[in-house]
Amino acid sequence: MAWDLDEYRREAEVFLEEIDREYYLQGAGHKPDLEIEPIYERHEGLFERTAVERVGEARRVAEGEAETRLRYLHQFALDGYLGSITRSFEARLAELEASLEIEVGGEAISYRMAPVVQANEPDSDRRAEIETARNAVLAERLNPLHREAVESVHIACVELGWPSYLDAYSDVRALDLRALAGELDRFAEVTQPNYERILDPELARSVGLSLAELRRSDLVRFFRATHLDEHFSAERMVTSLRKTLAGMGIDLEAQPNIMLDTESRPTKSPRAFCAIPRVPAEVYLVIPPMGGHEDYRALFHEAGHAEHYGSTDPDLAFEFRHLGDNSVTESFAFLLEGLTASPAWLERILGADGAEAAIEHARASRLLFLRRYSAKIAYEVELHGPDADLETMPERYASLLGERVGVEWPRETWLSDVDGGFYAACYLRAWALEVDWRSELSERFGADWFARGEAGAWLRDLWGRGQRLDAERLLAEVSGRTLDFGALAAELS
Ligand SMILES: [Zn+2]
Repeated sequence: MAWDLDEYRREAEVFLEEIDREYYLQGAGHKPDLEIEPIYERHEGLFERTAVERVGEARRVAEGEAETRLRYLHQFALDGYLGSITRSFEARLAELEASLEIEVGGEAISYRMAPVVQANEPDSDRRAEIETARNAVLAERLNPLHREAVESVHIACVELGWPSYLDAYSDVRALDLRALAGELDRFAEVTQPNYERILDPELARSVGLSLAELRRSDLVRFFRATHLDEHFSAERMVTSLRKTLAGMGIDLEAQPNIMLDTESRPTKSPRAFCAIPRVPAEVYLVIPPMGGHEDYRALFHEAGHAEHYGSTDPDLAFEFRHLGDNSVTESFAFLLEGLTASPAWLERILGADGAEAAIEHARASRLLFLRRYSAKIAYEVELHGPDADLETMPERYASLLGERVGVEWPRETWLSDVDGGFYAACYLRAWALEVDWRSELSERFGADWFARGEAGAWLRDLWGRGQRLDAERLLAEVSGRTLDFGALAAELS
């Protein structure tokens, strides 16, 4: 059969619709098992090596917007092809993770439950024991599979003609990932002098330790920050989202394409998520019936994705609605998420007195996260580069992460802590872009922009553009600004 580009596009859209609906149905607790294998089998032609080559060939002779569309499709094909190579490893890893147990102080804990038990464990020494036991199992039983998987995707990228996995993703993302890592090195330098001063009071409040005393295994407790939960009640969670959007002139009830799933079901995911089978016609915002500051953050984050995808112009090409630079959608998710730690929002929407603690904690945890991600991108550039020596990578991983975060970092997670396709770059750029959106909104509409209909209209215009433009181009077109990490570093130092 002759290979047809338009047919490939159409099938890609059908595939994403089927797979996202399956993730929605299973994650929302409508069905017990995630049955994605039959969907992949039905569409296996999408993920063959020839697909990457054909789309790449079409892209090489295209220009302008046609080239951008094909580049997004090229990334889709590459992700899919590499995914088809790693799928058998992932299935074996999932099976092992589900069956393995660790032993801590004579007590057996399932491998998968260990991080949850660890986050809820008040004793720091026991948290460390749980993490050490889990990492030992990871190193012995799971890492050999992780390593085989990463070696096979490295080989696949070279066979496709790129010098390395790093170069493959720099190409399909049209992003100089090495330069990005360099920018984040500077971010880490600038934020170093005040890092400990910003972290210490928040660490004291959440885990009762200073940065100097902190261990890697205490971090889950720090992020969990149960002392903040009193301001963030379960009953008011969905109301506060409706109220916030209504303030921007966005009536969630009047958006029939954004389906709010608030019902409680036994197997529903405990975290909010957004699923997008058809952009913009079928978008699900799935909300667990919990509360607490982490759940509010997750809900507002996912609502940012839902509003972005749900407001996307239906006439845009498939690639501009479903694919493209996810830094854009993540920036809108961070924008709404950030409201839950902004003084004006806490006062106006939650009427929270003494919410400074939430604001300070959010600042400290954002700084820690960004420094962690600055190390991750530096590490991933080495791990996936043409000269990578996998033997030395666990040590590089532990020293880069340990140095930037300021705690002794374990080597064992050197592969399990890596997201495929340099997704870390999307988060990093989205964090920088969010600062620009926030400045634009405050300058145009005031500090309480989230309570202004005009701000909502301005955002909806942005959201309407989907991901036709990448983060840099969208920002330049809207504001004339250039994307960098300066403002973010200033905010956090
Ligand atoms: Zn997100």
